[in-house]
Amino acid sequence: MEHIVIIGNGISGVTAARHIRKLSDKRITIISAETDYFFSRTALMYVYMGHMKFEHTQPYENWFWKKNRIELVNGFVEQIHHEEKKVALKEGEYIAYDKLIIATGSKPNKYGWPGQDLKGVQGLYSKQDLDGVEKYAPNNKVCNRAVIVGGGLIGIELAEMLLSRDIPVTFLVREDSFWNGVLPSGESEMINEHIREHHIDLRLSTNLAEIIADEHGRAKGVKTDKGDTIACNIVGLTAGVSPNISFLKDSSIATGRGVMVNRYLETNIADIYAIGDCAEQKEAIGNRRPIEAVWYTGRMMGETIAQTVCGNKTEYKPGHWFNSAKFLDVEYQTYGWVFSEKSKKDVEKHFHWRHPKEKICITVAYHADTHKFLGINTFGIRMRHDIFDRWLTEERDVDFVMAYLKDANFDPEFYANYEADILAEFNEAMGTTITLQKKSWKRIFKTA
Ligand SMILES: Cc1cc2nc3c(=O)[nH]c(=O)nc-3n(C[C@H](O)[C@H](O)[C@H](O)COP(=O)(O)OP(=O)(O)OC[C@H]3O[C@@H](n4cnc5c(N)ncnc54)[C@H](O)[C@@H]3O)c2cc1C
Repeated sequence: MEHIVIIGNGISGVTAARHIRKLSDKRITIISAETDYFFSRTALMYVYMGHMKFEHTQPYENWFWKKNRIELVNGFVEQIHHEEKKVALKEGEYIAYDKLIIATGSKPNKYGWPGQDLKGVQGLYSKQDLDGVEKYAPNNKVCNRAVIVGGGLIGIELAEMLLSRDIPVTFLVREDSFWNGVLPSGESEMINEHIREHHIDLRLSTNLAEIIADEHGRAKGVKTDKGDTIACNIVGLTAGVSPNISFLKDSSIATGRGVMVNRYLETNIADIYAIGDCAEQKEAIGNRRPIEAVWYTGRMMGETIAQTVCGNKTEYKPGHWFNSAKFLDVEYQTYGWVFSEKSKKDVEKHFHWRHPKEKICITVAYHADTHKFLGINTFGIRMRHDIFDRWLTEERDVDFVMAYLKDANFDPEFYANYEADILAEFNEAMGTTITLQKKSWKRIFKTA
């Protein structure tokens, strides 16, 4: 019986295993070094915040794996011997495969900062990282202050976690406005305000210079490139993530930042594939980045590779870009492409609307000449994914999107609606006289 070995039990590896099982009777083994069972990484913060126990982050009961004949091995793969088709575990064992799927995820970036390996200095990625936050920052008596380095989505999650236990937070952000490599300036500035209103000591245009140790080799403070020293008991390194592939450095598998794959998620070596955060597309897929460290693309790649491995060779087609996240209590969604001023091309124009008092705003991107709708970012308004996906496929123009904006709204009943205000401002800015269309359930649920 063909043996499929998967390295990594995150969303991509586990999805691949589940779908291979649905499609075939092949022998499946998942090797992973972090935890015995798959858990939802995106829910780690809620464990620290007391909303759930760690066991609740595991979507499947422990009996699920045996029942579905998915063998689980707790071990760290040190080497792949592709000529002999086997992997070597750190623990000394070898496991033979017929087909191998690399799904080893990411690791937090470290940029060689002095003191980056001290006790109490860590990222927020793994279950072990969660245990570290619990150990070094259990409360504000043990941890008088935390310093977070790097302003992105994981940094803001870590800040929210620490605030939930009243631990003061200093946030060092290299950019001159929060996440402004990704967000347009109006949104980024709103998030700066929001962070500061939560009493986080946000220091923009500030880099970490050094982490200072106490006599036990534990972090006791940081120095910034502005010459400030900040005393703290934990340092969170959240300056992005990169593919977790250092174990491949002596292998013949082609790597760039990640494991290089083609559209079929195949590597340069026969019968070896890579999926999820660790995979890097050789050929760009539209505007998408070659490495996408997001949950749903890991799941999609897992589903796609299962088809290929089971004989139905399938191209990875992720469709229109979307994503969602949270900045403290402000929900953020993005559909299509809305680039920041730092990365957008001249033909991309933006219409930005912001609520005069609340932390609510939207930015709509459109083509300067054709007015084709390119994408939307929303903060504090929940939108329907399937509607924007449809409008992007139908290549609607921005006037259409503004007229039918009510169809896209997914806020619960009795929430305030802002479409009329948004459209009034749009009409004024653009010199148009678009009329707002009533919400239509028939249109919303129409099938193509
Ligand atoms: C705190 C946090 C919050 C997030 N929130 C969101 C969110 O809201 N939305 C979103 O889309 N994405 C979010 N992400 C990103 C998302 O979780 C990842 O994109 C996703 O988990 C990646 O899945 P994966 O299967 O590729 O890898 P992983 O989940 O990283 O799994 C890989 C596994 O392989 C193991 N492994 C690595 N190397 C080896 C080896 N050599 N031998 C054995 N095992 C190995 C690792 O230990 C790990 O357990 C978040 C990430 C973090 C850290």
